[in-house]
Amino acid sequence: MHWNHNVQITRQSIYWSLISILISGLWILFPSGCQLVTAAPLQRFEFSSAHMGTRFSITLFASEKTQADMAATAAFQKIAQLDDILSDYKADSELMRLSDSPPGQPVPISKDLFDVLEQSEKYSKLSGGAFDVTVGPLVRLWRFSRKRKVLPSTVEVQTALESVGYKKLHLDRKTMTATLLVPNMRLDVGGIGKGYAADQALALLKTKGINRALVAASGDIAIGDPPPGQRGWRVGVASMDGSTNEPSLLLRNCGISTSGDIEQFVEINGIRYSHIVNPATGLGLTNRIQATIVGPNATTTDALDTGVSVLGSKRGLELVDSLPRTAALIFLKDGDGKQMFASPNFKKLVEKSAVGGAAH
Ligand code: ADP
Ligand code: MG
Repeated sequence: MHWNHNVQITRQSIYWSLISILISGLWILFPSGCQLVTAAPLQRFEFSSAHMGTRFSITLFASEKTQADMAATAAFQKIAQLDDILSDYKADSELMRLSDSPPGQPVPISKDLFDVLEQSEKYSKLSGGAFDVTVGPLVRLWRFSRKRKVLPSTVEVQTALESVGYKKLHLDRKTMTATLLVPNMRLDVGGIGKGYAADQALALLKTKGINRALVAASGDIAIGDPPPGQRGWRVGVASMDGSTNEPSLLLRNCGISTSGDIEQFVEINGIRYSHIVNPATGLGLTNRIQATIVGPNATTTDALDTGVSVLGSKRGLELVDSLPRTAALIFLKDGDGKQMFASPNFKKLVEKSAVGGAAH
């Protein structure tokens, strides 16, 4: 009898264990459903602030305004801090101090600068040098040309090219140092910095308990978990004339970037030169191209939109296709017409965004 009773208790406790395992399973399966029961409903909040020569905007979901305000403030602080590190307009930014350092001397740098340069090196290698943050001397020449409305001379371009090339920047993760290997180098992270800043802001929001968020720095967007009850964030893809009548995508936990010469270019003697330069020739791009990249994060997509613009549609799509979780839509403009090229992954993404399957 006593023994039986014990068995019953034991059985009961087994049932209870099973039930509690089931309940915890439900928590794992339906974490947001459980949140809805226990926490206040999530509301949408929007914030924006000017940094890095553009406007950063944050859209997030939180249950309380104070939590949303505090998280957004911290995220903008992080972006401002990155602006101080990465700016090529602020003479005392960490990047400019590194550019001013004597050749051959290892310079200790911050983790953020190191990460940006390391990611840059990765995309330089992958793109065969089409993406290259050592283009600073060329970018300077082209900015000057923009002001004067005169092309740089061949000698000026050749001289600048001597100080350009990603292999001339040496990074050492063990010592967290960067070394410029030749004189007159200038680093310019304009092609990757906004994407990196958007990713870091999104990561910071997560540390404040906010996962359902999107951080946009004009053409570079870092995307987290979707809005409540949604499969993703609806993001319109800009067409070449700046309108957004191209297919929109439903995205989550990824990055998307678009680069093009819609806003930034210089026209000299009837030829339009982009603010993106080809490190192989030293010249601003004259082929009218706009690349939209979707990838695992905004650092990747920002580097790739610039690199793919230099590579052109054929080699650009080959590169994108060779990378995991990466897709591209490219527009080429010639005369009044435009051509559109989409990578296989991009086409799939458009289909999934329309029919309601899992997004990116
Ligand atoms: P935006 O979003 O401002 O259009 P992009 O991502 O297209 O920026 O990058 C353009 C910027 O990248 C230029 O203004 C310049 O600072 C830098 N840049 C130009 N050419 C290259 C290149 N070949 N590789 C890496 N960065 C470049
Ligand atoms: Mg870019």
